[in-house]
Amino acid sequence: MRRETNDESRIGRQDVGEWLGWTVLVAAVGLLCAGLIWSQRKDAMREEEQRMTGQTNVIGHNLVRQLGAVRSVLGDVRATILQRDDGCATACQHAAMHALRGAMPGVRVLMLVERGGQVVFADAEPGEPAQASRGFLADLHRAVSPDIMYLSASIEPGHPGIEVRAALPLAAHGAGRGQVLVAILDPQYFDVAMRSALYASDMTSAVTSDDGTRLLFVPYDRQLPVYDAPGHTAFYVRHLRSGASSTVMQGPLGKGGELRLVAQRTVDAGGLRLDRTLVVSVSRSMAAVRAPWRRSLWMCGAAWIVLVSAGSIALYLRQRRRRWLRAISQQQEAERIAGAERIELALDGAKLGVWELCLQTDRVQLDVHGLAMLGYTASDQAPMDGRWLDQVHPEDRPGVERARRRAACQGGVYDVEYRMRHHGGHWIWLLSRGKVVARDGAGAASRLAGTHMDIGARKQAEAEIVRLAFYDGLTGLPNRRLLLDRIAQALAKSDRARTFGAVLFLDLDNFKSLNDTLGHQAGDSLLKRVAMRLQDATRDTDTVARLGGDEFVVLLEGLGSSAGEAARHAQRVADKILHALGLPHTIGGHDIRSTPSVGIAMFGAGTHSVDDLIKQADMAMYEAKAAGRNAARLFDPAMQVAADQGVVLEAGLRHALAARQFVLYYQPVFDQDGGMVGAEALVRWQRPGKGIVGPAEFICQAEKSDLIVEIGDWVLEAACRQLAAWQSDAATRTLTVAVNISARQARRPDFVERVLAVLSAAGADPRLLKLELTESMLLADVDDIAAKMRRLKAQGIGLALDDFGTGYSSLSYLARLPLTQLKIDRSFVRDMLVTPNAATIVQTIVTLARQLQLDVVAEGVENEQQRAALIERGCTSFQGFLFAAPGPVEALRRWHPQAVALAEH
Ligand code: C2E
Ligand code: CA
Ligand code: CA
Repeated sequence: MRRETNDESRIGRQDVGEWLGWTVLVAAVGLLCAGLIWSQRKDAMREEEQRMTGQTNVIGHNLVRQLGAVRSVLGDVRATILQRDDGCATACQHAAMHALRGAMPGVRVLMLVERGGQVVFADAEPGEPAQASRGFLADLHRAVSPDIMYLSASIEPGHPGIEVRAALPLAAHGAGRGQVLVAILDPQYFDVAMRSALYASDMTSAVTSDDGTRLLFVPYDRQLPVYDAPGHTAFYVRHLRSGASSTVMQGPLGKGGELRLVAQRTVDAGGLRLDRTLVVSVSRSMAAVRAPWRRSLWMCGAAWIVLVSAGSIALYLRQRRRRWLRAISQQQEAERIAGAERIELALDGAKLGVWELCLQTDRVQLDVHGLAMLGYTASDQAPMDGRWLDQVHPEDRPGVERARRRAACQGGVYDVEYRMRHHGGHWIWLLSRGKVVARDGAGAASRLAGTHMDIGARKQAEAEIVRLAFYDGLTGLPNRRLLLDRIAQALAKSDRARTFGAVLFLDLDNFKSLNDTLGHQAGDSLLKRVAMRLQDATRDTDTVARLGGDEFVVLLEGLGSSAGEAARHAQRVADKILHALGLPHTIGGHDIRSTPSVGIAMFGAGTHSVDDLIKQADMAMYEAKAAGRNAARLFDPAMQVAADQGVVLEAGLRHALAARQFVLYYQPVFDQDGGMVGAEALVRWQRPGKGIVGPAEFICQAEKSDLIVEIGDWVLEAACRQLAAWQSDAATRTLTVAVNISARQARRPDFVERVLAVLSAAGADPRLLKLELTESMLLADVDDIAAKMRRLKAQGIGLALDDFGTGYSSLSYLARLPLTQLKIDRSFVRDMLVTPNAATIVQTIVTLARQLQLDVVAEGVENEQQRAALIERGCTSFQGFLFAAPGPVEALRRWHPQAVALAEH
């Protein structure tokens, strides 16, 4: 802005300077012209004056010569007259005079006149009015000296023109005294001589006598009787006063007062002895004299004005053009600056650095942004010192070189992503784009230029997406998707290489209990540790993946070319994993044991699909679980058969429901006095051709689908009907019925309503119904279950926790759930006489239950010792083969004869 203002004022000064210079030049030219014209004027005037003076001289000479001739004629006539005086007759005199006059062209008439004015003799008729000559004749008395020739004033004889008369007295004394010889002079005689001296039409010439009388003047002008304009001293007066023989002067002339230049000369007529002094004058109109000069003046003036106008216009246009050019260049400059700023902004905004690379030396030049990206400042030269490629991550160099080769081709573009060493020593990701900007003589690319963009954030995001998409967020292990991809690749590879591999499917035993007991954080920590141990227990080339929850898969490749060898290898790895995971973890101050169940499926025979393989491993894992957990099982085609059997079983169960093939068995529950207090309803399947099938063979399958809900509903309805039947008799109306509830059943939103509806439909007393729940159903959503339990308990329904003591969570649930009963798992009853630990647990459970005012039922009491030991530890209710195995309701007769009678089916 400031620079622009400076420029403006500089240009303003320049303009003013130019105008000043131009004005000076124009003024100088004007002055020069004026000077020249002035001098031209002076020269012209001088020339004119000289010329006119010359002409007066010519006229004067002629006049003198002509008057001289007249005098000589008059002298000759006088002599003749005086000679004849004595004897020559008058006629003779006349003849002589006539002859003389004829010899003298300038004389028109010769007269002899008495001094008094009477004409004595005239050789011709004067042809003039009498009064015209009267004045002259009357004036002849002054002509007394015979030596002097008297001249008359000019006489206008009636015809255009004037006449002059010359008079010469005959003699002073003696004969002829008193007579004067007069010659009337022919005006033509002088006129021609005088006219010949005039060289311009505007010129006049005159002969004036010293008394102001105009004797002669050409051209004849009646309007010019006087020579000078009124109010001005007459020219001839001024001339005579000057005393010079020749003068030139200017002034107004005539009545109109026209300005004229007048040259005058006193005629030197001494030899003629005239009676007066004659002044010859030549005049010119000043306007005519000045006309050529005026023309020059006008022309010069016009030329000067043209010069001034043209020059001024040219200068104005020149300045305007200069301003215009300047405005354009300023605009271009402004646009250039704005463009540069825009580029700078764009580079800045887009976080781009600009670089230029010499391909021969592999040296690069970076702008500030480019340097800043690499952690350098403008003064640092470090990144440009060495070869650019040396600064590129070794893994990315081939890519960069490929991109350069591509760019070097005609029309090729340089576009590559690579890592570059940062000033801080770490690597940063750059996206480099550019193109060839110079080629050598042979057309080979010599310079590349372009921009750098820091794409670290993008790369990180990409990596994050890959991580999220393919890796498990908690453990960082490959997830299911990546695992499936790797397995597919492994299958293809093993097919090609004819080698074997294995998929190990791991499921942590009791993980859900731990998760719930110690909290999700502890569960997460455990999963992370398991992931780490799995990685430690396997090779880097093996893939350890987390499928979700507590399920992991290990993919083993290249286990050899023999199936047996490969299986043994896989088994060894599984053992190693079992060992590694079996070691205790310390999490949150707790010592935790977590064992896995491992299923192994082999591949390599070229027959597997990924899905099949995973399913097989999964099946083998269930097998391991079924085998008591903390074990590994190799998939066996028989498992497949079993799995296939599951499908058959499910269809059978559906049919059983429809065909009413289920029956309820009851196992009585006794108090410590041996009295039956109730029974647990246990379902059986009367499968045609197979007899009574126990729940162990089908509940598991039924729990995999909603079948369990339908079966459970039927059990609940049947049990409630039995309960209602018992209620109607005083002997059995206090008997309770316990019904096992599966997790799937309890999780249904309308579970509570359903139970109540069944109770009311059967007309059974809710207070006599007990629902047996297992910990596993609490794992999913303990709060939901607890809420439902509270509603059920509010109706008087009893709630028992089945298989108590087998899960981690048992203790933690006690306080949160509205339980009414604990059922000590039969494994403790079985072991309590064998291991002190089990006995302590039984003791603890009983004590705890008492404190919480819960009933305790001991399950699986098979012998008296167990019963005694349980009673000793405070247990009050018992269930087991010692008393009775589960059986049809008729079997209860032994304990309660009425019960059978009242049973309804
Ligand atoms: P549970 O609820 O723990 O049932 C007790 C099981 O222990 C019964 O097996 C019973 O026959 C057995 N038992 C009783 N006394 C003794 C003993 O002294 N020693 C030994 N070794 N075993 C004894 P059962 O009837 O085969 O039932 C197995 C499981 O099936 C049940 O375990 C229960 O979890 C489930 N179940 C049975 N009926 C139903 C049902 O209607 N609905 C649901 N959801 N599950 C049921
Ligand atoms: Ca039970
Ligand atoms: Ca049980």
